[in-house]
Amino acid sequence: MATKGAFRVECPHCGESFDADFWTVVRGDRDLEVKELILSGEFDLLMCPKCEDMFPHEEPFLYIDPLKDIMAFVMPESYQAQKEKWTAKMSADYEPLKASLCAAQGLASEPLFLFGLAPLAALLEADRDREEETEVMEFLAREEGMPLVPVKPAAARELDITFTIPFPSGLEGRAAALKAAEALRAKNDALPRLNKLIDTLSAMKDDSLPFLKD
Ligand SMILES: [Zn+2]
Repeated sequence: MATKGAFRVECPHCGESFDADFWTVVRGDRDLEVKELILSGEFDLLMCPKCEDMFPHEEPFLYIDPLKDIMAFVMPESYQAQKEKWTAKMSADYEPLKASLCAAQGLASEPLFLFGLAPLAALLEADRDREEETEVMEFLAREEGMPLVPVKPAAARELDITFTIPFPSGLEGRAAALKAAEALRAKNDALPRLNKLIDTLSAMKDDSLPFLKD
């Protein structure tokens, strides 16, 4: 899989024309330095080889993180004016790749179509916060000897809950998960996504937990 492509760009400062490398595919689970550039807003910054001016230049790319169940087609912000056209084009271009990724990498959720880096950075930042909160919750759970079960990442985002949920040892099901989560909240009530998990579990009708990973 090619991960980089070269495109001819022109420096807006001095007019110099040069070939620049762009990421065409970013693996969020492997290209950690590139992920950092997305979060810091430096991902699409280029430097002119002649005048050394820095300027932003967007090219479409595919962001994939199978562990977090993310596949996002990230297009330049300016494409938003013709959103339907570009969404259809990206879907068609990546259709063969999408099929193989879903089979080989276990990507389950529908692809996202994003315009500009900001929505991707916002998603990754929210995931990072969720990861940190999940780690704190997991530490409390281990102190209590509670096993942890992973949640489908897309469901964790949608419900705004932690990436794993605790259970009392040897038990499963909604009522048991609720009991475990409430026991952890008694130890730390400053975890918003643990509170959200309790709300979610409280509102559910039957004992099955469809958001857990198979
Ligand atoms: Zn220049």
